[in-house]
Amino acid sequence: MAGVQSDHDKRKQISVRGIVAVESVVEVKKSFNRHVHYTLVKDRNVATPRDYYFALAHTVKDHLVSRWIRTQQYYYEKDPKRVYYLSLEYYMGRSLQNTMVNLGIQGSCDEALYQLGLDIEELESLEEDAGLGNGGLGRLAACFLDSMATLGLAAYGYGIRYEYGIFAQKIKNGEQIEEPDDWLRYGNPWEKARPEFMLPVNFYGRVEDTPEGRRKWVDTQVVFAMPYDNPIPGFRNNVVNTLRLWSAKSPVDFNLKFFNDGDYIQAVLDRNQAENISRVLYPNDNFFEGKELRLKQEYFMVAATLQDIIRRFKSAKFGSREAVRTSFKSFPDKVAIQLNDTHPSLAVPELMRVLLDVEGLPWDEAWDVTVRTCAYTNHTVLPEALERWPVSMLESILPRHMEIIYRINHTHLEQVAKRWPDDMDRMRRMSLIEEDGEKRVNMAHLSVVGSHAVNGVARIHSEIIKSDLFHDFYVMNPEKFQNKTNGITPRRWLLLCNPGLSDLICEKIGEEWAVHLDQLAKLKTWAKDPNFQRSVMKVKQENKLRLAEMLESEYGVRVNPASMFDIQVKRIHEYKRQLLNCLHIITLYNRIKKDPSAPFTPRTIMIGGKAAPGYHTAKQIIRLICYVGRIINSDPVVGDRLKVIYLENYRVTLAEKIMPAADLSEQISTAGTEASGTGNMKFMLNGALTIGTLDGANVEMAEEMGNENMFIFGMTVEEVEALKKKGYNAYDYYNNNAEIRQCLDQISSGYFSPGNPDQFKDLTDILLKYDRFFSLADFDAYIKMQDHVSEIYQNSSKWAEMCIYNIASSGKFSSDRTICDYAHDIWDVKPSWEKLPAPHETVS
Ligand SMILES: *Cc1c(COP(=O)(O)O)cnc(C)c1O
Repeated sequence: MAGVQSDHDKRKQISVRGIVAVESVVEVKKSFNRHVHYTLVKDRNVATPRDYYFALAHTVKDHLVSRWIRTQQYYYEKDPKRVYYLSLEYYMGRSLQNTMVNLGIQGSCDEALYQLGLDIEELESLEEDAGLGNGGLGRLAACFLDSMATLGLAAYGYGIRYEYGIFAQKIKNGEQIEEPDDWLRYGNPWEKARPEFMLPVNFYGRVEDTPEGRRKWVDTQVVFAMPYDNPIPGFRNNVVNTLRLWSAKSPVDFNLKFFNDGDYIQAVLDRNQAENISRVLYPNDNFFEGKELRLKQEYFMVAATLQDIIRRFKSAKFGSREAVRTSFKSFPDKVAIQLNDTHPSLAVPELMRVLLDVEGLPWDEAWDVTVRTCAYTNHTVLPEALERWPVSMLESILPRHMEIIYRINHTHLEQVAKRWPDDMDRMRRMSLIEEDGEKRVNMAHLSVVGSHAVNGVARIHSEIIKSDLFHDFYVMNPEKFQNKTNGITPRRWLLLCNPGLSDLICEKIGEEWAVHLDQLAKLKTWAKDPNFQRSVMKVKQENKLRLAEMLESEYGVRVNPASMFDIQVKRIHEYKRQLLNCLHIITLYNRIKKDPSAPFTPRTIMIGGKAAPGYHTAKQIIRLICYVGRIINSDPVVGDRLKVIYLENYRVTLAEKIMPAADLSEQISTAGTEASGTGNMKFMLNGALTIGTLDGANVEMAEEMGNENMFIFGMTVEEVEALKKKGYNAYDYYNNNAEIRQCLDQISSGYFSPGNPDQFKDLTDILLKYDRFFSLADFDAYIKMQDHVSEIYQNSSKWAEMCIYNIASSGKFSSDRTICDYAHDIWDVKPSWEKLPAPHETVS
């Protein structure tokens, strides 16, 4: 393509991606050929591109091994306080390029594969995404692992090795089709199974008293947890941490009853039942489904992880002497457990159970240890997302935990009663057990009570949990409540995904920004420099061309690369208001139709994201966007001024292609609903401008860059609250705004669904009668701000200046900063920028 350097040349010249040394190129080639031969058992006549991917992955993994072993040895020798991040989701994406980038061997590998006549980008594209997450929460865990390793923390991620990750999304005639994500089909070259550390996890059974006066959980069904270790390399510091993912394994004697009854075949077949625990990721984002299998997943992960943590704590080395720790007094000084939302909150009663029933600690001591060890991160205030497990389900699956939860609640409510005597309503509000309707355990309340620190994920969200969701708890223990604004790793979300921009930034300010993202602020000097503006916009244009090529080759859609790329990618949810975006699209279309010769800023509007399979409204939203696109894209009057594209199967790998090519980022949730957002940060770091509400981290983004560099519109949290009080009537807006009226009348008359006018009745009913997220109340402000966006886009110098300001102001949103804050304020551990010594390694 004219004007775009070949990918090989482009990647080669970026020194921050690793110096190309002749010897290391030779070593990589040798190692690669050895793996083709010995690991893949192929010669170059029969090897497939996938074989070559695996040979390269193994070559790169070899570079990790000594560093990984040495890092773990080093932790054993020094015995620092360990940080344990517990999460039901890790949305890792691909590992190959990230590993090469962090090890600084990308240049050598590029050159070696080039010399071997292979296209490294084609091989990279054969890696399956590790899609063990739904969206922001799972991706946050992945960014945190990268930052914890880069900051030299003795940190471990713990989670589940789902056999099926987030489903692959196909769109057929506007309908979402889910396909199972069989990501392990060809094997996973990064993981190492550790059968020697397999651990039992118990379910069901009953509780009895022991002669020593303790409680004992007996007659349980056992499932084994098999650990798979995944390397987490830090950025150029020779640190390799571990993400340990548990897989369910039947015990040898599982369902032996059948065997004794003579049904051997049935006994073997039933082994699958136990192994279903780690079969599949629940595809809900911000929604609690309450399924028994999900509860088992949560406990399975927590129970296996805590056994591992306690084993490591006990077998520590004190100075030069190996010993077994017998006292748990020092446990909180050696162990920090961070709960990623309430999903792993059974860690609180499980740690209590082990300390009480196994280790024999008295209640008060066990409770003190538990609270000082655990910390809880809240990720949402949406009521439908909060986990509330039925007491009946907990009593059956985890009877001892239910006893412990009752006693925690009893002690907790005694404290409440001491401070607020006879305040029955407060007791009811603060109870861990909800008594209205089916009895349930409020897992957020359990997490708050069981933790010494509770944090929200952006300043505005942390304020809302203090004033609203956890207000009573805040009044009782204000010192517990903190904010930790989310961040993203600049390695994956700039260095790896946007080599053109990375290179340009390095030319101006050097290479330190990759680990000290604050340094991007130096770019402000050149915000008004026409040469720098031109360079930044040239990179953006190249990235847009690359995305356009991909859209054409993979989906057969042609887009105008001179148009504004206006993008909203995130899970489909009513609170994120993809419908509001859709109303803007229809409004633009109606304006073109009304006056085809009026000036118009061309836009390619792209929307992408998965809907939870059981979320009917979200699936309808996808259908509406696709149907609107079909009408607009085929209307000759519109031409290439307006195109609407549904980006199928949004996932980490697609995000890496989209962020660098975006002009405009849509962050338009109702104020007070999006806890933080991290997609917003990825766009900002890659030089897209944001149109957004004062919600989540958007507030802090605006503060960092100045309101004049962001397109802020719509109600504030206070205005939303006032509207709720007054009563929201969507018809007020419908009756007073002709453009709203036209949009809604078209949708409900079948304009976009010819022959089926009722197709979107549910959506128009929501917008006009039951909209919990007040879309129409923000419509006017949104459209006016979009008009302003179009106007500014025409002024390319002004637009470029704003882009540079965005990039230069994104330093705060590095997950390195977030992790430093957790380390200092919650975990009491110290980051280290020191490198570990490099291993003397030979590649082959
Ligand atoms: C970053 C990311 C998200 C989170 O996006 P939000 O806009 O913050 O909801 C979701 N999915 C993927 C694949 C991501 O990379």
